[in-house]
Amino acid sequence: MFVVLLVMCVAGACNSEQLNMQTNSSAEGKTADNTTISSSSNDPRENRGNQRKEEGAGDWTVPKKLTALDPKKKHVALSFDDGPHHLVTPRVLDILAKYNAHATFFVLGNRAGDYPELIRRMIQEGHEVGNHSWSHPRFSDLSQQEIKTQIGKTDQEIAKTVNYDVSLVRPPYGEINDRVQSAVDGPIVNWSVDTCDWKSRNPQSILEEVQRQVEDGAIILMHDIYPSTADGLDKVLDWLGEQGYQVVTVGDLLEFSTEANSSKAGEVFFSSKKAAS
Ligand SMILES: [Zn+2]
Repeated sequence: MFVVLLVMCVAGACNSEQLNMQTNSSAEGKTADNTTISSSSNDPRENRGNQRKEEGAGDWTVPKKLTALDPKKKHVALSFDDGPHHLVTPRVLDILAKYNAHATFFVLGNRAGDYPELIRRMIQEGHEVGNHSWSHPRFSDLSQQEIKTQIGKTDQEIAKTVNYDVSLVRPPYGEINDRVQSAVDGPIVNWSVDTCDWKSRNPQSILEEVQRQVEDGAIILMHDIYPSTADGLDKVLDWLGEQGYQVVTVGDLLEFSTEANSSKAGEVFFSSKKAAS
């Protein structure tokens, strides 16, 4: 049996998307409970190999999976929230391509519909699109049905653009409670490294936060809506490469790290590692 390793934001880190301590505790306890459940019948990643379907929306074709994890390397998943942004997201995509790095974009439904070409480009270039709600509300203020609507509308918006099944959800602010976990059909993905890019708006500071917190299996939080994040990404990827990290999507990281296990609906990941024992 594996146990999801929860890596919380260290004391003193900023809390851009971070939930409060009460919610953190709740998430940790719930996840520990979930790992005792062995059913894999609802594993949303079982069909991962087929999720990039041959036919996209309209005449657009979703490519087959482009990335492969190198098992000899350390891995880190890079995630970008709150986009797409018409200026910053293309820059982020350009820089990722330069380093042959891949990332997960947790998009907002009410922005995704404005930039279908960016959603297509993400998938075309081997990245992953995740669901970050329709309009970024605090899920703790919503009923279970309202949460389902936020997620469902976003999935539908993405489906208008590409024939692609979104499997990962990141709640706004990383806010998790029982209603959220019950409302989500797939794994819930938060992060272990908060770059605080929204707060510092400083490329050097973003790099230093990564350097301070990253480890094998980490999930890094950034936002593709701030020019300063794109400004800092080059150095982050350069440094991660020097340290021997392969930069991959969250889905690939989880699949690699928990390949002998299964993730369940509503299960929470902050990073992904095999249990120490
Ligand atoms: Zn967000």
